[in-house]
Amino acid sequence: MTAAPDLAAAASAVDHAQRTIDAAAKHLADNGGIDANQTVAYDLAHAAAAIENAKATLDYGSRGDVEARIACAFAADALFDLHTRTLGREQAWGIPTTNGQGALDATGHDVIARYRDPDFVAALAGEQGPRHLDGEFEMVQDTFRRFADDRIRPVAEHVHRTNADIPEDVIDGLAELGTFGLSVPEEYGGFSTGGESEYMAMVVATEELARGSLGVGGSLITRPEILTRALVKGGTEEQKQHWLPKLASGEIMAAVAVTEPDFGSDVAGIKVTATPTDEGGNEGWAINGVKTWCTFAARADVLMLLARTDPDRSKGHRGLSLFVVPKPRGAGHGFQFTQGHGGKMEGRAIDTIGYRGMHSYEVAFDNWVVPADNLVGGDAGRGRGFYLQMEGFENGRLQTAARAVGVMQAAYEAAYDYAANRVVFGAPILDYQLTRVKLGRMAVVIQSSRQFMYGVARLLAKGPGATESAPQRDGAMEASMVKAYVCRAAEWVTREALQIHGGMGYAEEFPVSRYFVDARVLSIFEGADETLALKVIARRLLESALSGNGGAVRSS
Ligand SMILES: Cc1cc2nc3c(=O)[nH]c(=O)nc-3n(C[C@H](O)[C@H](O)[C@H](O)COP(=O)(O)OP(=O)(O)OC[C@H]3O[C@@H](n4cnc5c(N)ncnc54)[C@H](O)[C@@H]3O)c2cc1C
Repeated sequence: MTAAPDLAAAASAVDHAQRTIDAAAKHLADNGGIDANQTVAYDLAHAAAAIENAKATLDYGSRGDVEARIACAFAADALFDLHTRTLGREQAWGIPTTNGQGALDATGHDVIARYRDPDFVAALAGEQGPRHLDGEFEMVQDTFRRFADDRIRPVAEHVHRTNADIPEDVIDGLAELGTFGLSVPEEYGGFSTGGESEYMAMVVATEELARGSLGVGGSLITRPEILTRALVKGGTEEQKQHWLPKLASGEIMAAVAVTEPDFGSDVAGIKVTATPTDEGGNEGWAINGVKTWCTFAARADVLMLLARTDPDRSKGHRGLSLFVVPKPRGAGHGFQFTQGHGGKMEGRAIDTIGYRGMHSYEVAFDNWVVPADNLVGGDAGRGRGFYLQMEGFENGRLQTAARAVGVMQAAYEAAYDYAANRVVFGAPILDYQLTRVKLGRMAVVIQSSRQFMYGVARLLAKGPGATESAPQRDGAMEASMVKAYVCRAAEWVTREALQIHGGMGYAEEFPVSRYFVDARVLSIFEGADETLALKVIARRLLESALSGNGGAVRSS
């Protein structure tokens, strides 16, 4: 007999945990700030993300019995996480030690005892709960799930194991479905009518494609999406008219060239230059320097490239501008293109342990000339590049969370299926409590991550835009929180899914080994985990604590 789900108790314990987080943020702000307390600030950011996730899941919990059990199990997990991160470090967190409860109150300890109970969690194996999508998004889910099952899954293993390119018919098929126009406003040839549908359709579609394969399907939307957001925010009317319909139809595919060998997390320092030129009698910008990790650079028709247009490096991020850089299509693991006047662009693929199909390249530019019209925002766009690429990346973080949920879902399904069929010591391993607890916790983590992601999608849809002085808009912290939480969760879920397969989990012939290596990249790109935790989440938490607004954020 397991405990009945008590949402009110879980909500009360989560509220107390939120107060602990707010107080700890204030404590850090008053005692040296983030850099003097990086380890605690990192833990604070992750604990806060889990608590925010718990709030979104508690809203979901009110919709039925299995939903309530998932919500209580997730709340217990998030509370346990906060408790263990603070244990022995109470002083650094500013938590009083006098009452013996640590970061939680008595209800919090009770919620952990009731809903981390092995039998309570084991009963959730195979119970993922309904998603509660509105009708129109259920249709989006059905469409993309079918596409992933029919067109992506059958080629995913081949692409991974031979390090091949994404088949063109996958790109064509997604273009026919209108995938690349999901975030492009209707007036520019896309399907976005603003509001909730703008973000929800994108996350629902992305999850299904990533369930098919992270490398072959789940990541194709990200790049056009990032460029679309930057153009919508900062492009001239002519640029919107020119580029957005082509992006929406898939006629033009994009790659993103921001990272450089010496500047990844610290983007504001990048060195690639764009200098005015009139090479061949045409006004434009000559690009020089090296970008790295430019995913999809060979196949892409354009690169969204961030470059330094102001030679005064002391201007930092204010000296950067964004360009749409046209290039010929290439394929495979390297490319070299030359312009009439001798400008060169050369790409070398970086071999990776997973996330295959897209290929990521180091790209060297030697006087590669871009037409003057391709500076995003025209003359007014000079020096605004950092801000515009942030606009794109913030959404990229939410989308990366959707990719992580898709990979987790695929891993869970594979693990459940294997556990039901693999007989060890005379019984299917699914019958053993330890396996059921693993699968139950996976089901809880996946559904709660999904609900958190939906909540952040709604929040971003509502949020007012960023301003130049505050380049991250409302929802920015939550987009970073969902990315940080869900991507770490995907590492755990795929690890356990592989483990449930025993030796066969380590065999390339089982897709679960691919899910495991694919999941590993999610905490590195679109904002490395530590950087997001310290520079976005913890920073915002401390700012809110100082202004007295702690705990005000809600993801739904
Ligand atoms: C498969 C893949 C695809 C990618 N695709 C693209 C793409 O299409 N376009 C693109 O522009 N980029 C892309 N990237 C690059 C990615 O965004 C960067 O790798 C990421 O931003 C981290 O930068 P870095 O690799 O230079 O790490 P670094 O910045 O060198 O960081 C190294 C480590 O130090 C940590 N760290 C950094 N700062 C601090 C600090 N202050 N305190 C404590 N720890 C810190 C980081 O979190 C990280 O763990 C891709 C990367 C990969 C692996």
